Amino acid sequence: MSDRPAERRSRLQSRLVQAGLDGCLVTSEPNVRYLTGFTGDSTWLLVGARRPPLLVSDRRYETQLAEETPGLEAMIRPPEQMLPQAAAQLLESSGLKSIGFEGHAVSVSLHQALAGGAPGVTLLPQGDLIEELRSIKDDDEIAEIRSAVDQAIRGFLALKAVLTPDRTEREFALELETLLRRFGARGFAFEPIIGVGDRAALPHYHAGGRRLGESPLVLIDWGAETNACYRSDLTRTLFTGPADDEMRRVYDVVREAQRQAIATVRPGASGVEVDAVARKVLDDAGYGPLSHGLGHGFGLQIHEKPRLGPNFSQTLEAGMVVTVEPGIYIPGRFGVRIEDDVLVTPEGCEVLSGRLASDWESAQVAW
Ligand code: ZN
Ligand code: ZN
Repeated sequence: MSDRPAERRSRLQSRLVQAGLDGCLVTSEPNVRYLTGFTGDSTWLLVGARRPPLLVSDRRYETQLAEETPGLEAMIRPPEQMLPQAAAQLLESSGLKSIGFEGHAVSVSLHQALAGGAPGVTLLPQGDLIEELRSIKDDDEIAEIRSAVDQAIRGFLALKAVLTPDRTEREFALELETLLRRFGARGFAFEPIIGVGDRAALPHYHAGGRRLGESPLVLIDWGAETNACYRSDLTRTLFTGPADDEMRRVYDVVREAQRQAIATVRPGASGVEVDAVARKVLDDAGYGPLSHGLGHGFGLQIHEKPRLGPNFSQTLEAGMVVTVEPGIYIPGRFGVRIEDDVLVTPEGCEVLSGRLASDWESAQVAW
C-alpha cells in the first residue's frame, strides 16, 4: 500500500532543501492533515529537511494519532504545557537552525511565543509552500473528491424528489445535511446557500425563512465533506413554478457560459483565460460583468489554489480540480448560478459532477 502522506512530505522536503531551510513548522490544520492524514486538531508538525517528521499533540489524541498516523513519531505534551511552548521547546532542542513557518497561519503572539522559547532558531516566514503542493491532487485525493461529489449529488437528488412548497430555506438545508450524512458524508463542506427568488441574487446569502413556494426559483449551493475531510462544491438553480421569459433566457446564458468555459479547461490554460471565456458569453448577452471569479480549487478546504479569475494568471496542470461557476444576479428579482467540479486531466478535463444534469428540463421541479 502506498503511503501518500509520506510521499507528500518528501515533496515538501525537496522544497525545503531548495529553499535552504533545515525544516518547517506546520501549524495550519489542513496542511497538517495533508502531510499526515490526521483528522484532529491542536496538533502541529515539524518536518526536517533531512530527518523524520515529528508531531506535537496532547493526550486527547494519542489513540487517534496511533490509528491515523502509524509510523509517525508524536511528542505528547503534558497538560500543564501549552502547544506553543511545547513546539518552541521542540524547535530549540531539534538542533535545526533555520526553520520555516506558515506566515499566513501564525499570529504575531504565536510568533513571539515561538521565537521567545527557541532563541537558538531562526524562524523564517514562508509563503504558500504547502498550498502550492496541495494544488495538484494525488490519486488518493482525487478518489476522496469523487466520493465528496457523489455524496453531494445523491443527497441533492434524494431531496429534490420530495420537495414541497411549504419548506423553508432552513428546513431544506437541514434535510439536505441529513441526507448527505446518510450517504456517508461527515456533513456539509461549508454553510450552504439556499436562496428563494430575490435571495438567489445575493452571492453571500445562506439559508433563511423564505418558503420554496414563494417564488418559482431557488438557488442551492452546497457540498459534502468526506470522513477524510475532502470536499465538493456544487450549485444548481431549480424552478419550482412557471419561469418567466427572462429567467429562461438567463438560465440558458449561464449554462452556455459554463459549457464554453469548461471546454477550455486543459493543462496550460490560464485562470484568466478560462474566466474570460465565460465572462464574454455573459457580456455579449448583456448580463455582464460577472461579479465574482469563475471558479476556484478545492479539496481539504473549500477555496484552494488555483483560481479562475481576471487576476489569476497561473496555468492549469493535470491533477488540479476547480469549480466552474458562472452566475447572473438581478438585484431584487432573482439569480442563477450553475457550478460543477472539474478535474484537469492530461488530455483536457473531466466534469466530476457530470452525472448531475443541469439542462433546462432537469431544473424543473414538480411538487
Ligand atoms: Zn459553491
Ligand atoms: Zn464554489
